[in-house]
Amino acid sequence: MEILSNRILNMAESETLAMTAKARELKAQGKDVISLSIGEPDFNTPEVVKDAAKKAIDDNFTHYPPVPGYPDLREAICTKFKRDNNLDFKPEQIVVSTGAKQSIYQVVQCLVNPGDEVIIPTPFWVSYKEIVRVAEGKCVYVKTKLENDFKVTPQQLEEAITPRTKLIMFSSPSNPTGMLYTKDELRAIADVVAKHDNVFVMADEIYEHINFVGGHESIAQFENVRDRVITVNGVAKGFAMTGWRIGFIAAPTVIAKACNKLQGQVTSATCSIAQKATVCAMLLDPKSSKDIIDMRNIFMQRRDMVYKLLCDIPGLKVRLPQGAFYFFPDVSSYYGKSHGEYKINNSTDLAMYLLNEANVATVMGSAFGDDSCIRLSYATSEDLLREALRRIKEALLRLN
Ligand code: GLU
Repeated sequence: MEILSNRILNMAESETLAMTAKARELKAQGKDVISLSIGEPDFNTPEVVKDAAKKAIDDNFTHYPPVPGYPDLREAICTKFKRDNNLDFKPEQIVVSTGAKQSIYQVVQCLVNPGDEVIIPTPFWVSYKEIVRVAEGKCVYVKTKLENDFKVTPQQLEEAITPRTKLIMFSSPSNPTGMLYTKDELRAIADVVAKHDNVFVMADEIYEHINFVGGHESIAQFENVRDRVITVNGVAKGFAMTGWRIGFIAAPTVIAKACNKLQGQVTSATCSIAQKATVCAMLLDPKSSKDIIDMRNIFMQRRDMVYKLLCDIPGLKVRLPQGAFYFFPDVSSYYGKSHGEYKINNSTDLAMYLLNEANVATVMGSAFGDDSCIRLSYATSEDLLREALRRIKEALLRLN
């Protein structure tokens, strides 16, 4: 008899984490691997945030917190939404979870019935698909074009919506493409959604503070869809706090209550110390916080550098990302080529070739629903990036 459930047997592993684990394994074997696989800032958490965590321990915040998060944290999150996004939420609309990934998982579990359709513009962040599949929802992929900065158009959305559509999920700034939707583009999407009463939007804004072109725009700002938008955010990316595992939603109260109920059966709440640290992070104003501004500026310098190096590799199609810390170049001109035992027919072949031959870990585009591309995270030092790009170029040029 099969030990494991069909649910887990049918679930794909997270490729971002799998490639990172492979890179770690090779490093442990003594290989000089450069990892451009995981999307994780290489900076340390701001000192002031760490101090808040230390104080929380000393103040004995070591007991179970309320399921959706401490009241002061939910207040601080409301303050953040007002200050940064001009959005008004009440604490009961906020649920704090163990990372934005759990937040997304809970939203999908609370909204999607088996057979419900979830529209996912492609390329998408790797876990959306599996999260929907676990809920037995039906993923409806809408393929976007590199020439359109990988953004879904209102017409495409309109065509994809059916009476079974329950949810649309996307990230802006986008993982994996680094592109972001403008206010006008979001308004156009909101206008389409507004015409369909039963359709909700999950807006993943975890890369909000890593934006190189100006103010962040939230789709929740549009009144015609406001009561059907779930905004997901957290501290991992903008505050270099990946390990603290704090994500949150701001949602219509009925959805927040449902997520709270689910969370009460799953984790009880997220870590008390990390929550107290997050109160401090939420009260940092991104317009004046040196930590946030410095990180963004460094990411931008790296982006510019990597862009030049990528443009210098023949056969790649590259867009200049406007946010997050990823490039998603089209590498398909190398498909059909080979070197020694390596035959490159798809993005997995190419990512494995780069890992084994160039000692550079990337993530295959197929994990994000686009097999023509690979994802490179530039959340690492300029020296390592330069060396990684040199190796990638050399390895690609060896293919014929
Ligand atoms: N979100 C990051 C990434 O895409 C972290 C890894 C993950 O959770 O998938 O690389």
